[in-house]
Amino acid sequence: MSQSSAVLITGASSGIGATYAERFAQRGHDLVLVARDKARLETLAARLRQAHSVSVDVLQADLTQSADLAAVEARLRDDGRIGVLINNAGANQTGSFLEQTPQSIEQLVALNITSLTRLARAIAPRLVQAGEGAIVNIGSVVGLSPEIGFTLYGATKAFVQFLSQGLSLELSSKGVYVQAVLPAATRTEIWERSGIDINVLPEVMEVEELVDAALVGFDRRESVTIPPLHDAAHWDTFQAARQGVMGNLRQAQAAERYRTV
Ligand code: NAP
Repeated sequence: MSQSSAVLITGASSGIGATYAERFAQRGHDLVLVARDKARLETLAARLRQAHSVSVDVLQADLTQSADLAAVEARLRDDGRIGVLINNAGANQTGSFLEQTPQSIEQLVALNITSLTRLARAIAPRLVQAGEGAIVNIGSVVGLSPEIGFTLYGATKAFVQFLSQGLSLELSSKGVYVQAVLPAATRTEIWERSGIDINVLPEVMEVEELVDAALVGFDRRESVTIPPLHDAAHWDTFQAARQGVMGNLRQAQAAERYRTV
């Protein structure tokens, strides 16, 4: 992506998204900031314009609402200056699966899965045509681990990781870089928003450290960046094991242990 690309960041009003906004402004990129809280976005935009002499547009949108989502899609499709999408907006939902309601399930899937996927789909053809650009999807280590217990949230983040790895395979040969970023517990408002006291967590990463590490992965064009994973070999082993499972499938016959005759 060119140095002059504008960057559209969803969920830019706080936490990880606001920190990405700060860092891309420091790098001299113009920005489009998306979230529901317009006043917060305007305050951040004014500060970034002043501090870094970049152009910052604010796009108020509730990404679970189809008209708002369509407006952000249109912006990604039509604004040729935008070369980077940071697909960051997301929420958590606590409680067991039995405690979720049909409405709360629909809400989480709409935000964490549908909007993220549709926004990637909105920008991808233009990036492919340009032969450059980047899509960054914020997943979570929770998506690797059903044992953590955030079943629905983790499932949405497993989707994000799969989508990102698949898109990377599809789009990298066309010049488009796709990165999945998998944070672990990071100090942002997401915890309070989902009713968890962050102070009960044994370890928490500061949001600046998380985003700066994610950007190291971005600059290296990593397809999956896991800032809290200290031994990168574990990820390689995990991926090799997964591919080993696929390599050992014999599709014509059920395995011996399942045979009835
Ligand atoms: P955060 O501070 O709560 O930020 C969430 C952002 O998403 C806010 O800007 C919020 O802005 C926006 N948002 C929420 N609902 C939205 C909606 N319906 N439409 C549009 N925007 C919406 O939390 P964060 O930790 O920075 O979260 C960012 C991403 O990191 C999420 O995808 C999250 O799952 C992921 N993550 C976080 C952690 C962590 O421990 N913090 C760990 C792993 C992954 P408005 O309220 O103004 O709309």
